[in-house]
Amino acid sequence: MRPPILPREKDPMGAAIEDYHRRGCADELAIYSTMFDKDIFPVETLFRGYDEMPALERIALERAAGQVLDVGAGSGCHTLELQRRGLACTAIDISPRSVEVMRARGVERAELINFFDPALQGRYDTLLFLMNGSGIVGRLANLSLFFRRVRELLAPGGQVLMDSSDLRFLVEDEEGNLDIAPEDPYYGEIDFQMAYGEILGDSFDWLYIDFDTLHFYAQKAGFQAELIAEGEHFDFLARITDKM
Ligand code: SAH
Repeated sequence: MRPPILPREKDPMGAAIEDYHRRGCADELAIYSTMFDKDIFPVETLFRGYDEMPALERIALERAAGQVLDVGAGSGCHTLELQRRGLACTAIDISPRSVEVMRARGVERAELINFFDPALQGRYDTLLFLMNGSGIVGRLANLSLFFRRVRELLAPGGQVLMDSSDLRFLVEDEEGNLDIAPEDPYYGEIDFQMAYGEILGDSFDWLYIDFDTLHFYAQKAGFQAELIAEGEHFDFLARITDKM
């Protein structure tokens, strides 16, 4: 089966992005998870400009070079900034509405395709995964498939720039020890479901990963992961390159 794109009637975030683009505001985009209470996703953050971006994202943009692939590009905020700087950037997303909005906002190359779809081809110097970019990997078990795709899409000497967060604070006791059993799933494997008005999305897996675990899987796949910068909330930016 071909890795899917979202049907329009099951794409709440895309619907919110479309509304925000048209009206300058959106209704409530709700996020549910079996792990957390209901939350509200701040839709305006998907339209952030360079000055509003977290430091880790700005560092990623400074480091982006050559042919760039912005994976899970949303409203296209990072691609638009890179385009302004004269970089050749292709934005991909599985949300039809988001891809339409990206095109309307001036993204020159926006494609409706899943990162895991073998029909996505080309060689890129930078693969960009931002806003907990590790999320699209879904689960730890998908990391080997993820790195296979990275190998297919990365030009010689190319780099992956990815941000993520270590969710260990969810499972830490007062002494800072991890309160987990060996049979527990990895603590960064989170399920989400979103809703926007009448539009209810399917539940999906979204991976948060700590740097050491990312480093371990990268090594196993013949890559090396480097910690570029750390944020204030257990978040970090990693750079992954081919092992020499
Ligand atoms: N990077 C953007 C958007 C983050 S939201 C930003 O920082 O603002 C995550 C986006 O990834 C959503 O738009 C979602 O549709 C897209 N996405 C999820 N899985 C994907 C996949 N397998 N391939 C491509 N895009 C994906």
